[in-house]
Amino acid sequence: MRKVRTRARAGTASPLRRSPVPERPALHQVTLPLPSSWGSLDRVQVYVIEGDPLTLIDTGVRTDASRSILEGSLEELGYGLAEIGRVVVTHAHRDHMGLVQTLREAGAELECCVHEADADRVERYAEETRERFDATLDLFREYGVPEPRLEVISASREEHLESRLAEGEATVVDRRLREGDRVGFKHFDLRVHHSPGHTPGHLLLEDEELGLLFTGDQVMGQAIPNTENFYSAPLPEPAEPLRRRPRFEGLRALRSSLRALRGRRFRRLLPAYGGILQRPDRAIHDTLLYYDVRLQRIERGLKHLAALDQDVTAFELWKALFREDESIDDMRTHLLTLIGALDCLEVDGLVVAERRADGVLTFHHG
Ligand SMILES: [Zn+2]
Repeated sequence: MRKVRTRARAGTASPLRRSPVPERPALHQVTLPLPSSWGSLDRVQVYVIEGDPLTLIDTGVRTDASRSILEGSLEELGYGLAEIGRVVVTHAHRDHMGLVQTLREAGAELECCVHEADADRVERYAEETRERFDATLDLFREYGVPEPRLEVISASREEHLESRLAEGEATVVDRRLREGDRVGFKHFDLRVHHSPGHTPGHLLLEDEELGLLFTGDQVMGQAIPNTENFYSAPLPEPAEPLRRRPRFEGLRALRSSLRALRGRRFRRLLPAYGGILQRPDRAIHDTLLYYDVRLQRIERGLKHLAALDQDVTAFELWKALFREDESIDDMRTHLLTLIGALDCLEVDGLVVAERRADGVLTFHHG
């Protein structure tokens, strides 16, 4: 899943960064390329931990270039791909799990570990990618995106679906991780934290001894995670007055996950994007602030429209707040952010939702 970008393309450097944390010499960072279709996100960071078993945290996408650089980096450390004994996937996006099956086919008898809430997505990568796309169109329809615009979104996604599917591959998950589980090595272990938001099963791995936290896409350097929002059940809950279907509300989850990290005094964050973060509190604060500012902006927009006695749909809010000629991909991301923001504002009692006769949800400042 693409992130909200706030940074320029990285420069060229050796993909293997040996022991970036001197106190943990068995840990290395490998930077793997992303296809040009990812735009300014041109490389993703994965981590190798030497030990028994030889462990990878995330894998990069499934491309020849990514595989070849991973292989070369492991060779520099004295290993072959087939020696990887374990992969811990921070979440079910293809830039994190794309190569697991390829590694197995290269001979690695590895244990694949994923949080239980993302595990099915790893095992059903292609079907799940298609299903989620259709479900997103249904969600946008409920939030007021008109049919011609849905057709444009659909056509754009169809056009990119094949390459998207090729960049990942379904694989069996051997261990479904939960909050508090441990990923063990001979002399230390990593504690699993469930940290939903960017995806439902995003996990963080904490090296408690050294104060390190592997953050995947939940907290990054110079980038902000986007958040998923999708139906989690086929039918509305009977008690829900507007007959809304239950959803995974990613922005609400992200804010709550990040708030739980504040004040934890980590020494360094090891993300999938943006180097190694030496000021963890600042990075966590900045991510929360980014969304706080957007929530305030959306609330102000709703307040203004309430003064005019207008109820609006999420699509009308998008038109009021974003450029109409932005790319389809940006529009999709912004609409999901808006829907997430409306979830947050409604829970805080600042926004009231109603359902119009045509089934579309509208909102007004409460
Ligand atoms: Zn992601």
